[in-house]
Amino acid sequence: RAKDAGRGVFHAYEPALHVQAEERRVLEVALRGALEKGEMHLNYQPVVDAGTGVLKGFEALVRWNSPDFGSVSPVKFIPLAEEARLIAPIGEWVLRTACDEAARWPSEVRIAVNVSADQLQNPGFVAVVASALASSGLPAGRLELEVTESVFMHEGLGATKTLERILDLGVRLSLDDFGTGYSSLGYLSRTRFSSIKIDRSFVQGASKGVKEAIAIIRAVVALAQSLGMATTAEGVETEAEHEMVQELGCTKVQGYYFGRPLPVTEARELAIRSWGATRAA
Ligand code: C2E
Ligand code: MG
Ligand code: MG
Ligand code: MG
Repeated sequence: RAKDAGRGVFHAYEPALHVQAEERRVLEVALRGALEKGEMHLNYQPVVDAGTGVLKGFEALVRWNSPDFGSVSPVKFIPLAEEARLIAPIGEWVLRTACDEAARWPSEVRIAVNVSADQLQNPGFVAVVASALASSGLPAGRLELEVTESVFMHEGLGATKTLERILDLGVRLSLDDFGTGYSSLGYLSRTRFSSIKIDRSFVQGASKGVKEAIAIIRAVVALAQSLGMATTAEGVETEAEHEMVQELGCTKVQGYYFGRPLPVTEARELAIRSWGATRAA
């Protein structure tokens, strides 16, 4: 039944706003119990070196398989979790699960975990990160947290301070979906990001020959280079797109062309194929 329902189940209701609200309420109730019922799992998408194609790490992407709604996209349930104040427990579960898993990979392979702006509002979040590292045994340098520009919108310096304390743990930060939010460049000089992730929309635009998209990728690459940051092109789907973003100077690439988000066992197998068996016990 879950499989039949799938994503389509929502579309039938979308025109009527009151039904949308009702749908959200029902979805929220289901979401509340989802973690403890074991309905969530993580997939891991490869991130590779743009020049050599060597596996550099994986991005953890949360999946929710609801018995009632089928597989619900994180694009839908993460914003709902944020509004329903469920993002803290879900985010903590994602972080701990990803660290536990990555600790079993070859030491060259990093793990990137998405963190919502709401999680950074909680001062206790730094302790959660430290605890996830300690209990998994994952070295801090192998963990990268992905945040979006929205982090800096509401709380300004509060988020900056939290990010500083996370950097002090030795964890890396990357700026996700760059260019899609409302942003000023000021925080790029205040917060030490290791990499900027260029949103798929620019990669897509550039591959269609949109001049502005190409110009923006060039500018972001130049900016990142001068700040000593890497650039990851998101959503690379074809060989032609890979060649293009490589020529534009992106240092890492991620997308269906290199691999879809993988179940945990396949991700580990790929890591071991790429780097050999882990040295960690
Ligand atoms: P994101 O962090 O920008 O993640 C990349 C999204 O692009 C993923 O969608 C991935 O499956 C998709 N993608 C990767 N390569 C390609 C490609 O070549 N073509 C296309 N069309 N898509 C590609 P996904 O897994 O549906 O996640 C969507 C968003 O949900 C993520 O965007 C992220 O913002 C959020 N998200 C996912 N997992 C988590 C999580 O654990 N915590 C939080 N806070 N947000 C999450
Ligand atoms: Mg991300
Ligand atoms: Mg992204
Ligand atoms: Mg994106």
